[in-house]
This record gives sequence, C-alpha cells and structure tokens, in this order.
Amino acid sequence: MEIKSILNSFIDLIFPMRCIGCEDVIQSNQFLCVPCLNQLTYTHWQLNQSNAVFRALNLLCPVEAATALCIFKSNQLIQQILHEMKYRNRSEIGASLAELFVQDIQHIDGVIPMPLHPKRLKKRGYNQVEPFAKAIAENHKRPYLPQFLERTKHIQSLVSRDRNFRLNALSNAFALKQALPKGHYLLIDDILTTGATISSAVHQLKNQNQIKISVLTIAYAD
Ligand SMILES: [Zn+2]
Repeated sequence: MEIKSILNSFIDLIFPMRCIGCEDVIQSNQFLCVPCLNQLTYTHWQLNQSNAVFRALNLLCPVEAATALCIFKSNQLIQQILHEMKYRNRSEIGASLAELFVQDIQHIDGVIPMPLHPKRLKKRGYNQVEPFAKAIAENHKRPYLPQFLERTKHIQSLVSRDRNFRLNALSNAFALKQALPKGHYLLIDDILTTGATISSAVHQLKNQNQIKISVLTIAYAD
C-alpha cells in the first residue's frame, strides 16, 4: 500500500464521508448513499425537443434541444445537492452527477459551462457548474470550452425580483471573449428556473453565424 492511500484510509477513518441526504457513512468520493441516490427525482428526459425544458427555453431563445437530469423541488434532496455544489465547493458531486448522463452527444462540437461574473468568481473562488460540465465533456470525449463566453453584468440578487425585471436585467449580460467556430455547442448550467440567464447566454452565443446551441442543466424547476 502506498503512503498516500494509507494516509487517505486514515483520513477516511477519522473524517468519514457522509451522505448529503441521510448522513450515513459512505465511500469517499461519493456524495449520496444508494437509497438516497435512488430517491432523486430523475427526469429520464433525452436531449431533444420533446420535454418541458426545451418547451420552456424555446419560448425565450432559439435552441436545438434541451434537457435536465432532475426535477427541482425545494426542501428536497436536489436542493441540498445544488447548495453543496454552490456554497461548499463539492466538486466531486458534479463529477458524480455527470455519470448519470449517458446519452449520445457525438453531434456536439463542444461543451460550454455557464460562466460566473469575474467578481462573483473571485468572491466564491470557483464556478460550481464547472466540475459537472467538465466531466460531461470528458466522459463523452467532447472538447471542454470555458474560454469563449463571459459574464459582463454583475447582478447582486434576482431572487426577489419579478420575471420581467429579471429578463430585462439579464439582457446583454454576456459577451464573447473570442469568436466561436461554427458548430453545435452544449451549454451547461446547474438549474433552469425562469430561463432568463440561459436565454441571455444563448442569444449572445447565437449572435454569430452558424452556431447551434443545446442546453443541459442538472435541475429544472417547473
Ligand atoms: Zn443517504
């Protein structure tokens, strides 16, 4: 046994990983026990045009296809999971969730993570969407492309604002750092709620010729 793995076993013994849902001890680099994993509200939707995510987004912006892994329910496990990713930098969660996405995306030319505004990135220290988006790209052998899209508007909090305010506030909230080659890209975010952020990003990406965008999120709040 290598010293590193002896050390890791020792750390596991003192600080065992616990399931986010029920706090049972679980294997390290997992985030849920099997019963909690089975309890997640999976959509089982394909990345296509026959689901609620596509229908919601298609009203706001031109997308080729869309899907989400889970349905978001407040006060349920999926909310805790997104919270851990967002505020506790649990990057292993994103990588594990990406394993649940087993669809064929060979027609996709690259994976683009939803960027944070540089100010927010500096404050938080990480973009919570990246581990998930990166793992999707790696698992499907697609290029990972975080270098094109940037967020230019820093909006404090839109939670309490109404839908129209949010849609207006987010117009032109993104810019392209460099020209995106023509192709079909998968834009990835953690959650789709009003669709304001995602549609603003899609509009910016599609400002160039011959760009197609599909969207994948971890959760969809219906
Ligand atoms: Zn559990």
